[in-house]
Amino acid sequence: MTIVTDAKNGKITEEMKIVAKMEGKDPEFIRRGIAAGRIVIPMTPYRNVKLCGIGEGLKTKVNASIGSSSDIVDEEMEVAKAKAAEAAGADTLMELGTGGDFLRIRKKVCDAISLSVGSVPLYQAFIEAARRDGSIVHMTEDDLWNATEAQAKLGTNFMAIHTGINNIVLDRLKAHGRYGGLCSRGGAFMSSWMLHNQKENPLYEHFDYLCEILKEHEVTLSTGNGMRAGAIHDATDRAQIQELIINSECAQRAHDKYDLQVIVEGPGHVPLDEIEMNVKLMKAMSNGKPFYMLGPLVTDIGAGRDHIVTAIGAAASAAAGCDFLCYVTPAEHLALPNLEDVVEGVKTSRIAAHVGDMVKYKESRDWDLAMGRARRDLDWEKMFSLALDPELARSIRNSRAPEDADACTMCGNYCALKIVNKNYNLAK
Ligand code: SF4
Repeated sequence: MTIVTDAKNGKITEEMKIVAKMEGKDPEFIRRGIAAGRIVIPMTPYRNVKLCGIGEGLKTKVNASIGSSSDIVDEEMEVAKAKAAEAAGADTLMELGTGGDFLRIRKKVCDAISLSVGSVPLYQAFIEAARRDGSIVHMTEDDLWNATEAQAKLGTNFMAIHTGINNIVLDRLKAHGRYGGLCSRGGAFMSSWMLHNQKENPLYEHFDYLCEILKEHEVTLSTGNGMRAGAIHDATDRAQIQELIINSECAQRAHDKYDLQVIVEGPGHVPLDEIEMNVKLMKAMSNGKPFYMLGPLVTDIGAGRDHIVTAIGAAASAAAGCDFLCYVTPAEHLALPNLEDVVEGVKTSRIAAHVGDMVKYKESRDWDLAMGRARRDLDWEKMFSLALDPELARSIRNSRAPEDADACTMCGNYCALKIVNKNYNLAK
């Protein structure tokens, strides 16, 4: 029995009521969305989490990803990053550590925050095999199942699982080639293992067994995007679309047969004019499953400011119907994000989510209306309170304080708003 079973049976659960209240929706709307596979509420029997609804008709959500690497392992820093991401406004967190004692770090992170935590079990399976037997190619199928169970029991309640990389997808990849190679770690691990062992991906071949494990632990399946383009010129190529087809089929089976909650992941690096098409294609293929966009980056030349590059793509994605955005930090493509990178990434993605919501749900513009009026009235305290980052806004103004407290140092004595307010009453 899962929340999907309840929803299909017409039962409105407490979780549905809570999310309905948070979103300003009728609980029946949430129930119908979950029953149809268009909405998910990641949950876990192992940890109390702040519930978060993701999907059609709900506000766009933001995920922050953290985690150690083989080069940098700082357990306390990872916990600090997780807390900072939650404080900055992330809706969920993915803990993707691959260095040090990553299980212990993940447990600490899960204990430190109340957000839903996502993970990628195959990282653990491949890295443990490499540590044990010297190479990722020695991973066994049991390593995958054991890692999935172990991570579920830690309280990670949604998992990116690379179900869509099968032999057909790899044939497409090899036949077509790539300008920018393969940028997904999961995609790189699994495709290398398949090539070396001349075997089908166990996550695809034994998908039903995987679903049974996920169902037992109430994990939300996020079908991994191992073929996402890592370069603009590879966007929307045959390998990516073939994987999307397979992932959509897996998502449907998981929802229909196992009553699992399912999210479908998308690219990657995508030029601006291909974003809407990607979102609509994914929604059509998957019968409207919640869409989790990894970025997307709309140009390849923004290193150092890729959080801004991503915000442009993320806003366009959300406006087109994407439900869930994975942030990108200024360190993307350059280094493991530090604490400041994480905060900057979350806050930038929050702006993108709001911009998208302004298109999807017109009532989201009420926030902007309030800010517009506060600006007109030169009500600075109100402006700070309405700003997405009040401390930043206040500190910039204070760092260049005006002589006239009503204005700011941009126009000083010639404050346009002040001049017009003196001569007209334009208030509405
Ligand atoms: S001084 Fe210029 S920029 Fe500053 S509030 Fe007035 S009109 Fe706006």
